[in-house]
Amino acid sequence: MRSDPSAPGEAPATGSGRLVVITGPSGAGKSTIVREVLQRTGADFAVSVTTRPPRPGEVDGRDYRFVNRETFQKMVENHDLLEWAEVFGHLYGTPKQPVLDGLSRGRTVLLDIDIQGGLQVHRQLPQATFILILPPDEAELRRRLERRRTEEPEQLRTRLRKAREEIRSARASGIYTHTVVNDDLERAVRQVVRILRQER
Ligand code: 5GP
Repeated sequence: MRSDPSAPGEAPATGSGRLVVITGPSGAGKSTIVREVLQRTGADFAVSVTTRPPRPGEVDGRDYRFVNRETFQKMVENHDLLEWAEVFGHLYGTPKQPVLDGLSRGRTVLLDIDIQGGLQVHRQLPQATFILILPPDEAELRRRLERRRTEEPEQLRTRLRKAREEIRSARASGIYTHTVVNDDLERAVRQVVRILRQER
């Protein structure tokens, strides 16, 4: 598992918009929450690039931009990514320019990224809003990961182990001023929408 800031040096200018980083372990329900929040608030979604192959139903350019490793590496070398990380053998990153463009137009831009990515963004843009989404408990997290049926048993164990480590490191980092426990989807969505509106 690796994670690097894409461009050391000066913090990027963010204009008048607001960056909201939604993070949490895989299986916490981040993407479902983000989808609902986008519909209710009209915020922009920062589409990540990934070397992971698409899952059934995923659309290139909407859910992710699916690229090969070579293209991804070029983006890293060119400092095109705000942050990037390797998660379960695949590379994921947030293209910088669309985020900065949205912010300079005064937009609220939502990122759905893993916990290590959230820590990277905090180093560059500490003024962003950081929301940690947590599953109600480990038994429920396991059930959700099993329901996805996209994981082999070994992958499932790895994801659970990583989730435990990540939650620990997220809590220890102290950057998450907002924590949302996703025990009820509607309640979790409303809580995130409220956070977005509060800080406007
Ligand atoms: P999945 O493969 O299930 O879509 O995503 C795996 C994990 O990668 C999730 O925790 C998701 O939030 C995270 N992820 C998606 N895009 C990015 C990104 O651009 N950067 C980082 N650091 N993580 C991402």
